[in-house]
Amino acid sequence: MHSNLPLKHLFDLPEGVIYLDGNSLGPLPRAVPDRLNQMVRDEWAGKLIRGWNDAGWMEQPRRVGDMVGALIGAAKGSVMMGDTLSIKVYQGLAAGLAMRPDRRVILSDNGNFPTDLYMAKGLIELLDRGYELRLVDPADIKGAINEDVAVVMLTQVGYGTGRTHEMASITKAAHRAGAVMLWDLAHSAGALPVDIAGSNAEIAVGCTYKYLNGGPGAPAFIYVRPDLIETIQPALSGWLGHDAPFAFDLDYRPAHSIDRMRVGTPPVLQLTALETALEVWSGLDMKEVRARSIQLSELFIEEVETRCPTLKLNSPRDPENRGSQVSFAFPHGYAAMRALIDRGVIGDFRAPDVMRFGITPLYLDEDDIIRAAEILEKIIREDLWQEPKYQIRSAVT
Ligand SMILES: *Cc1c(COP(=O)(O)O)cnc(C)c1O
Repeated sequence: MHSNLPLKHLFDLPEGVIYLDGNSLGPLPRAVPDRLNQMVRDEWAGKLIRGWNDAGWMEQPRRVGDMVGALIGAAKGSVMMGDTLSIKVYQGLAAGLAMRPDRRVILSDNGNFPTDLYMAKGLIELLDRGYELRLVDPADIKGAINEDVAVVMLTQVGYGTGRTHEMASITKAAHRAGAVMLWDLAHSAGALPVDIAGSNAEIAVGCTYKYLNGGPGAPAFIYVRPDLIETIQPALSGWLGHDAPFAFDLDYRPAHSIDRMRVGTPPVLQLTALETALEVWSGLDMKEVRARSIQLSELFIEEVETRCPTLKLNSPRDPENRGSQVSFAFPHGYAAMRALIDRGVIGDFRAPDVMRFGITPLYLDEDDIIRAAEILEKIIREDLWQEPKYQIRSAVT
């Protein structure tokens, strides 16, 4: 297979760093600083308030939404950018519950990212109508879908283990039971091919600072199935989701398009960084990205298992059941990750004992993978993680 990958020259990575954490925060695409600088000077400084009309700021959340949509199999006009993913989970879940007013169960799994579950619990408490958040093991989801379930809320790729849920068949099972399907694509967008329209799911959400390299704090996205856009309850009824925001009506009337999922003023600087970052994907085939991700992940697992037998694979062994990350359990995982980062190999740590490595073929190749495994081997073999300075926990792991 002819490959365009990797595209290292499109990224600004520090000299000597092997970056295995693009699943948490993607690196800086080289085109971003100049574009941001130009935007700030020409548009913010130069156009001032006129930028909303003259520089395309007002349409930007939708324009960028279409770019993200192209990467997740969504039709134009069905994806809106804004807010953070936690907020989009809340909005999507509230909208989904409103579609099934006579049901009281939200079904999710115990491998989901906690903020999704916290947001669900907060919403349940606020609504105070007897809703229940039912959590089962990821493998037991299909069996737990029944006619009590209002919304099945799942993250397709688990943040800890990287295991994937089968999107099409779970969505079908949810629909057979009359439930609404809400997918969180945080670790899917830019990591593997997603066919959200083909899945027929009602709602999807995700973030853009992970595999989409939008930068720290980049806005989230929300997808609504096109046939529902006219009727879905926006739940967060902010003025920019209004049908005519500048009429300043005292009554809220949602827009007749995906614009109704907007809330307030969009983060224009962040959207500009993201819009530029997304240009990296033009001409890339997500199937090729996925194939390379699997090749590199398989190589990493093989190298680490050979060199560091005390590390236990904490991800599904079958690459078809795994996203674009690999994790290993090691009792001293935190200290070992600190030692690794100190030597230029950046991954991350998730409690209680998981060393997590994002495998992003946009800027990684076989040499990086083997070098990372060699450095990890040295740390484990020589117990280099035992140094006292590696034992102190930082706020962000
Ligand atoms: C990364 C991630 C989040 C983060 O939410 P923010 O509001 O953007 O901080 C939420 N949910 C999942 C599943 C994630 O992977």
